[in-house]
Amino acid sequence: MSYKQTNHWIVDNNQHINKNSNEIKEAALWIKKGELVALPTETVYGLGANALSDEAVQKIFIAKGRPSDNPLIVHISRKEQLLRLVSHIPDSANLLINAFWPGPLTIIFPKGEEVSTVVTAGLDTVAVRMPSHPVAQALIEAANVPIAAPSANRSGKPSPTSATHVLADLRGKIAGVVDGGPTAEGVESTVIDCTTTPPILYRPGGVTREQLEAVLGPIRIDPALLGKDEQPKSPGMKYTHYAPEGELTLVENQAAIQTFVDKWREKQFKVGIMATDEHKQDYDADVILSVGSRNDLAEVAHNLYHVLRQFDEQKVDVIIGETFPREGIGVAIMNRLEKAAGGRIIQR
Ligand code: AMP
Ligand code: MG
Repeated sequence: MSYKQTNHWIVDNNQHINKNSNEIKEAALWIKKGELVALPTETVYGLGANALSDEAVQKIFIAKGRPSDNPLIVHISRKEQLLRLVSHIPDSANLLINAFWPGPLTIIFPKGEEVSTVVTAGLDTVAVRMPSHPVAQALIEAANVPIAAPSANRSGKPSPTSATHVLADLRGKIAGVVDGGPTAEGVESTVIDCTTTPPILYRPGGVTREQLEAVLGPIRIDPALLGKDEQPKSPGMKYTHYAPEGELTLVENQAAIQTFVDKWREKQFKVGIMATDEHKQDYDADVILSVGSRNDLAEVAHNLYHVLRQFDEQKVDVIIGETFPREGIGVAIMNRLEKAAGGRIIQR
């Protein structure tokens, strides 16, 4: 379906939002009708549909241009809703739920019978998350159904961290977007599979490996995340998501960045540098954008996708980027950057 108009519901004070707020009630009506509504979560904006309706969920794949073998995360607002979605709750999952929900952690469970194979892309497991964002919680409550929601970008674009990004990608293709301002975290949730012992980390995110291991003891890491030449266990991780249109190359040695920039500029390309506050004044390029301070990786995560989109808006041909320490949220930042760069990292 194409929409003549995509609703833009602005909710000013997220803390005062609940399931009875007018904007939320209207957005929930669209979800109940089987249409698509984008919503803010603490990680990125999601593109939501009634997770219990095949027809509604199918619209997500069409609007995003998402491959149908890439399963969706189902979002809930209360633990009772989990019981309808899963066949049982492994002990490891219970520990994680108590420690990290609501929050940026997606847990993979054995799937319950009611969950459609459209949501799980044919797998016998289902990914579930309870977001902490008050707007996401209010919308799930008001719609009174679990909401399947991948990131609300067109496939291949960076995940949206503001309603402006959502509208740039999906205006006319969705019923509306609830605008709760920029998202806090800026990178997608951590994904962990609790159907195996020990659980396996599929995607790094806001909840770090150290935090998970503090609760569970040692976990396994999907070998594909460690740079091993193996097919990732989570279908979505094989796609080069998040790629900007300009070709991104990461350069580990910050002092070498200018040399790479100069080479591309000699060839008449428009060159951008993805810099940090500490180094941005050291460079000369067509476009220089800082993702924040190297001393505040949470800020870098928050700004990352917005900056990648800005390079596209400015139509740069080539982007040269600084790298970050793979510690804490830095693991998630580097995972997303490596994907955006299609693996182009220069280690000298
Ligand atoms: P997105 O919501 O666009 O950030 O993507 C959701 C991520 O969760 C993708 O990488 C999916 O492959 C992954 N995912 C969702 N469901 C499952 C599942 N049942 N098993 C493994 N990975 C999953
Ligand atoms: Mg995505």
